[in-house]
Amino acid sequence: MRAVICSSCGGKRFESRRIEYLYRYMGAYLLVPNTPVEVCLDCGLAYYDAAVLKAIERRFFAIQNKTELPDRYITMPEMAYA
Ligand SMILES: [Zn+2]
Repeated sequence: MRAVICSSCGGKRFESRRIEYLYRYMGAYLLVPNTPVEVCLDCGLAYYDAAVLKAIERRFFAIQNKTELPDRYITMPEMAYA
């Protein structure tokens, strides 16, 4: 469902972009490059299609349950702020 009027600022100008989405659930993560999103050009709020989020969620649990393999695994550094 494409946003027509931004619920945050009332803006009407949107742009389709592809971004790197980070799904997180109970301390587990799935990084999803190339996720389609509509971005409000006035305030930058991102609108995700419900079907896109459903698909990401389904893949996350499939990978957690080991019924599907991710493209690859990555490691990332962590460092607390203070
Ligand atoms: Zn907006």
